[in-house]
Amino acid sequence: MDEKIKKVILNLQRNNMAGYFVENEKELLQLMAVLVKKGEKVGCGDSITLEETGVFDFIRKGSFTFYDKHQLGLTPEEKRAIYLKNFDADTFLTGTNAITLDGKLFNIDGNGSRVAPMLYGPKQVIVVVGINKLTDTVADAIHRARQIAAPLDAKRLKKDTPCTKLDKCIDCRHEQRICNDFVLITRQFIKDRIKVILVNKAYGF
Ligand code: SF4
Repeated sequence: MDEKIKKVILNLQRNNMAGYFVENEKELLQLMAVLVKKGEKVGCGDSITLEETGVFDFIRKGSFTFYDKHQLGLTPEEKRAIYLKNFDADTFLTGTNAITLDGKLFNIDGNGSRVAPMLYGPKQVIVVVGINKLTDTVADAIHRARQIAAPLDAKRLKKDTPCTKLDKCIDCRHEQRICNDFVLITRQFIKDRIKVILVNKAYGF
């Protein structure tokens, strides 16, 4: 295992979070089958990483009660009901915009529905992250999230914000701005409530 990865996992443990390292999607799904028990209530945030790694498909095909926010045709009220259910989930699945060498997670969110259950509610939070999201410092993590992840996410969501034309963030005041919550998770009260799985490949953005 790369020295940097070893350091991240050690620092996650120091911050009361569990760290895992897997080489590929196959190993990832084997680990998911151990960490997420049959019959569990499972919620999720938006995550390209969870799509690309097959984690969403694994949950959809498994014996879980999945609060799937990606079902077609959901009304705003139905989406809100799912967001509220996520707080009572056994497992909440998400990616992260960045992870630092000293074992901290940084995320930007639009309405808070992804970061809020990371902070409180679900019994466990499983964060799946490709090695492309690893940054040396918190400052680098913030820069990565603002200047790389957020403009690409705005494009994915087909927003009309300046970053979708400029390919960089100008800290806009646009009515469709997606960057409203800037959340740095530094430590957990409950040991290993947050479990971070690092996968030895680039995923998402
Ligand atoms: S603050 Fe505005 S310009 Fe910057 S990434 Fe977010 S939506 Fe784009």
